[in-house]
Amino acid sequence: MDMRHLGETLINERLPFVRDLARSYMGVDMVTEPVPVRPVIHYTMGGIDTDRHAKTPLSGLYAAGECACISINGSNRLGSNSLTECLVFGREAGKQAAAQTALSSSADTSLVKESRNTSQAGLADLFMRENTGDSVAQLRREMNDAMESGAGIYRSAESLNETCTTIARLRERFNAVALEDKSNVYNTDLIQALELKSMIEVAQAMAHSALQRCESRGSHQRLDFCERDDENYLKHTLAHYQGVNAPGIDYRDVVISKSQPGQRIYGGGT
Ligand SMILES: Cc1cc2nc3c(=O)[nH]c(=O)nc-3n(C[C@H](O)[C@H](O)[C@H](O)COP(=O)(O)OP(=O)(O)OC[C@H]3O[C@@H](n4cnc5c(N)ncnc54)[C@H](O)[C@@H]3O)c2cc1C
Repeated sequence: MDMRHLGETLINERLPFVRDLARSYMGVDMVTEPVPVRPVIHYTMGGIDTDRHAKTPLSGLYAAGECACISINGSNRLGSNSLTECLVFGREAGKQAAAQTALSSSADTSLVKESRNTSQAGLADLFMRENTGDSVAQLRREMNDAMESGAGIYRSAESLNETCTTIARLRERFNAVALEDKSNVYNTDLIQALELKSMIEVAQAMAHSALQRCESRGSHQRLDFCERDDENYLKHTLAHYQGVNAPGIDYRDVVISKSQPGQRIYGGGT
């Protein structure tokens, strides 16, 4: 990125941190040289379905921050807006959860018991497995590669189909991954395994949602469907876990109150 035309005075006034970063990490001074740039993933659009009170469809469960989808950002979160999600809706989730606890004498014990039993059984299974060759690190690398190449900045039916197939296989292979560290204390191997399990499910939901959305909108850019299609896709995508090897995809209408969807133009277009 060439910003030399801005001049040293303006750069120091408006972009001092960027100048500092480029100097510290790349040894490049943006006043005299272009700065190398590359894409990086810094946010997951979408998340657990919540209303504006951070309430999920599961009674007693609240979600806020990057794991939640309150839908304040539409199809593309612009820079720095995740702070709003964390602070505003984190506070709301806390307030709502506290209020619900004060009102109800007991949580839905059947759900709590079921989830505790499922997670305990899953943990026991992870600890008992014998090593079959696959490691958490290997599967994670393969998942990263599949998402980067097939569901990255630019997608197509072909690339997404390939990614869906790879992720489904990774999900199966995860069932045979064994922990190297079997200890009960500060077991980072276990944390990595649990995170990978969730990441594979999120990756699968993303890839299947993107495959079925035959249009381009916000950060979802399809090379085979370049235009936005409000007639068919002015909708939220809902991915449901079905206990089988692919999520079910459903849609919900978008409620538009004040601002109509506009064209995605940077630089002052209307
Ligand atoms: C490079 C980069 C730059 C960014 N820049 C900006 C910016 O300029 N402005 C801005 O507003 N936002 C920015 N963001 C986004 C912002 O940092 C995140 O959206 C925000 O930090 C999310 O906070 P969170 O608490 O919701 O989730 P996280 O910070 O991701 O916290 C989730 C925690 O849950 C833990 N966890 C995961 N699985 C489990 C499990 N099974 N059991 C227990 N714990 C678990 C994780 O280890 C983690 O500690 C940036 C992100 C990146 C990566």
